[in-house]
Amino acid sequence: MTAATPIRVALIGLGKIARDQHLPAMAADPRFALVAVVSRHAQQPGLPSFHTFDDLLASGVAFDAVALCTPPQVRHGLARRALEAGKHVMLEKPPGATLSEVEDLRQVADARGVTLQATWHSRYAPAVAPARAWLEGRTITAARINWREDVRVWHPGQDWIWEPGGLGVFDPGINALSIATAVLPRPFFLTEATLHVPENRQSPIQAQLAFVDTLGVPVTAEFDFLQTGPQSWDIEVDTDGGALRLSHGGARLWIDRALVHEQPEAEYPGLYARFAELIGAGQSDVDVTPLRHVADVFLLGRRVAAPAFIE
Ligand code: NAP
Repeated sequence: MTAATPIRVALIGLGKIARDQHLPAMAADPRFALVAVVSRHAQQPGLPSFHTFDDLLASGVAFDAVALCTPPQVRHGLARRALEAGKHVMLEKPPGATLSEVEDLRQVADARGVTLQATWHSRYAPAVAPARAWLEGRTITAARINWREDVRVWHPGQDWIWEPGGLGVFDPGINALSIATAVLPRPFFLTEATLHVPENRQSPIQAQLAFVDTLGVPVTAEFDFLQTGPQSWDIEVDTDGGALRLSHGGARLWIDRALVHEQPEAEYPGLYARFAELIGAGQSDVDVTPLRHVADVFLLGRRVAAPAFIE
């Protein structure tokens, strides 16, 4: 694809992430042209807007790809319709509400010869690749994830997050797992988890996780949706060659408390560059590893009743 023949994208679900990241990332990348929006409530000035995906398909508006920015619970049906219509599909994270439906999408994409991209935006944070490179060849002795944010600040009014399939605190927590699975050199497996579920909600508000990797190295995670004051999106890794810390969601890399890498954030431009590459190469990229860890937590975790959550 070239700037002369951009990939024509229809965006579905005009919520926070669509407006904050997808619209600017597409506008800045000449390989893409946003040609339509599907939204139950909103319109995008200057663009054809449709209430449903069926309305878009029936409209005759030509498009090559879909960016799916809805909550995960409604992703599979929309993605399947798009793939069956021969469109390339970018899935926001998490790629689905279940592992089985993501596998179904992978098979449909393969059968139709179109691109399916399961995005993990945090893997495109600027210090993630340098962290992976620094850890290569070092002996890791422990890793700790601390992901604590205030749900009232970051997710106001997002009722879907508390519903089945919305993941609760794992909506941000899965970002940490997407980074950990990208930088740690060996697979790790859940051994124990505690999930704190508010008595008036379906999804956890806090969680403590214990994993072990294939050499027995412990990996722990603390996820907290009730953090007020300073927020933390940190991963610490102890090694024989020093202590690594990824902070600010993978934006900054520290070695032995010294800041060694910091660059401006460009996660979504990175995702769209990758989408263009995949489409150009006729490939898909569907890594479910972070979602599989969350599914394991929901299988193995011990539930503890937590006080009702009132927004
Ligand atoms: P959001 O602000 O609630 O927006 C989601 C949009 O999806 C809604 O505005 C709605 O748009 C549409 N939608 C379609 N069916 C829906 C349904 N049944 N219930 C609710 N909304 C429905 O959520 P978001 O923060 O943008 O998150 C969307 C996805 O992006 C999630 O999977 C999330 O994990 C991911 N994500 C979010 C962030 C973030 O910082 N917020 C960052 C990275 C990834 P219309 O009214 O236009 O139909």
